[in-house]
Amino acid sequence: MGALPAYPPAVQQSVAEFMSAAPSSVRALSGSSAWASTYSTTLRRVIHEHAARAPRTLQSYLGPSELGAVCDRQVAGKMAALPATNHVSDPWPSIVGTACHAWAAEAFEADNARSGVLRWVAEQKVTPHPNHPGTADLYDAVEHAVVDHKFLGESSLAKVRSAAGPPRHYVVQLLLYGLGYRNLGLPVRRVALAAYPRTAASLDGLYVWERAFADEHGNVLPDVVELLTEVFAQTEQRRAWADEIVAGRQGLLDVSADPSADECYFCPFYRPQAARDGGTGCPGSVSA
Ligand code: SF4
Repeated sequence: MGALPAYPPAVQQSVAEFMSAAPSSVRALSGSSAWASTYSTTLRRVIHEHAARAPRTLQSYLGPSELGAVCDRQVAGKMAALPATNHVSDPWPSIVGTACHAWAAEAFEADNARSGVLRWVAEQKVTPHPNHPGTADLYDAVEHAVVDHKFLGESSLAKVRSAAGPPRHYVVQLLLYGLGYRNLGLPVRRVALAAYPRTAASLDGLYVWERAFADEHGNVLPDVVELLTEVFAQTEQRRAWADEIVAGRQGLLDVSADPSADECYFCPFYRPQAARDGGTGCPGSVSA
């Protein structure tokens, strides 16, 4: 490096420090120096590899959180275990979600221990449908409520707070957990979605959305029965489409689709280029 021009000493020092650091393109990427940037890649690799082997990622059947998706094509493709074509998915939101769920389970179990009353049941396996078991976050034995924790970013939290309420797949997931708890012989009066502000600096934004599940005599409400009956019929039809895909008698794109910006971006089969090259994957809302 040549001599610096005659700037004041303080400026000369900061320019020298700047010049000795890694190129700004590297620093801007992921580290304060070339070593730090390379090291961040090592850390990232360990986290990605561990996330790819998480039980949720390796699960071969669809759980209650997936059955309520609006798009037939997405669910049928998952049931057929087609390889993902959407490679932009980042495991970080689910890593944060998994860690927060583990912390919440500890918190509610600790509340049982402090009070000496078994009010909360955390992380219980339930089977609302023989082929689609799942793990429900929380049961409240005092309120007879099934609670699902969601740790959400700002825009998702705003949707839950809106007049339209949570998206269909969240509601279906809750009702399936409610049915699963009933199948265990426990009373369920209501289901509740506890939406926590994942990216906020405080818990002030916690918002609870609820839906009645059964009347005071324990009879499941007609609108709940109607929605769950619809979901089970849809699941059967989607299974039949998946079997056709596996047998090679139809392709993913032969299944009806319901593209939406929210759903497609996170869908494992999203590949906008498919609209142009006709290759694997689903173009979502992109037209050729
Ligand atoms: S990309 Fe969109 S339209 Fe295609 S399967 Fe996924 S959710 Fe459905």
